[in-house]
Amino acid sequence: MARIGFVGLGNMGGPMARNLVRAGHAVTGFDIVPETLARAAAAGVAAAVSAAEAARGAEFVITMLPAGEQVREAWLGAGGMAAASDPGAVLVDCSTIDVATARAVAAAVGRPMLDAPVSGGVMGAEAATLTFMVGGPAEAFARAEPILKAMGRNVLHCGEAGAGQAAKTCNNMVLAATMIVTCEAFVLAEKLGLSHQALFDVMSRSSGQSWSLTTYCPVPGPVPGSPANRDYRPGFAAALMAKDLGLAQEAARAAGVETPLGAQALALYRRFVEQGGAEADFSGIIRMLRGGG
Ligand code: NAD
Repeated sequence: MARIGFVGLGNMGGPMARNLVRAGHAVTGFDIVPETLARAAAAGVAAAVSAAEAARGAEFVITMLPAGEQVREAWLGAGGMAAASDPGAVLVDCSTIDVATARAVAAAVGRPMLDAPVSGGVMGAEAATLTFMVGGPAEAFARAEPILKAMGRNVLHCGEAGAGQAAKTCNNMVLAATMIVTCEAFVLAEKLGLSHQALFDVMSRSSGQSWSLTTYCPVPGPVPGSPANRDYRPGFAAALMAKDLGLAQEAARAAGVETPLGAQALALYRRFVEQGGAEADFSGIIRMLRGGG
């Protein structure tokens, strides 16, 4: 059993903290929204009055916050967790943030810190089947691995500080592009008189196969569990995909790399979000593409 401080108990952090409690750990949590904190407390998380209090005395301190700004503030701001946490504690940020901020926060904290963003969404958080992509020192990774395994199925060490965020940003850029082109293929097939099922049967056994097709198929029918079968309720909201694609473009600019398909994917998801698709699953972009968007 470990003493764990957990800050940010929202859609992802709430079930992740719950799974740590279920695994027998003593979890002290904090969230700025009182109702969110109360929900976590009902699931066995001890409620702290501040992020610093959640961090104090913990062997592992974990954050699951919206974006880089909140991560920087929570760790380094006045009353921040870096100062409050024990010098020997393993510090882990599971939020999806930009690579530059992940590296800057780890450097400013001045102690071993891991960036450990996840894929698998809210369903993965609830079922403890997340994939963690982890950057930071090997020794801190080895200590954190059993704790992360209580929340996920795959825990992958990707390299030094920022490598977890780099892996996440590259993965999601590919995910967005394959989803868009898969949607385009279904829309084209509709116009060519080819059924959804026929195209699925061919592509899922051919070189057009992808996760976007076989797990998140953007039309109802071929994959019964995909969001298309429940009117595109997420799943993975388009607003979050637009956020992740923005992070990928920031990273590409900073690295001096051209990613034209990634840039186009960001432009399309931004347009989908502006047209009211923010809360829809990201596969719902097929509706915009059908409309000629
Ligand atoms: P969320 O908005 O539901 O949760 C974030 C929580 O952080 C909220 O409860 C909020 O009140 C709290 N918070 C904000 N600032 C705080 C502060 N200073 N101190 C304490 N608490 C604070 O978001 P989420 O869906 O849980 O996502 C969290 C992170 O995980 C994001 O970076 C997101 O990109 C990433 N992510 C989300 C998904 C998903 O499907 N939802 C999947 C993979 C990764």
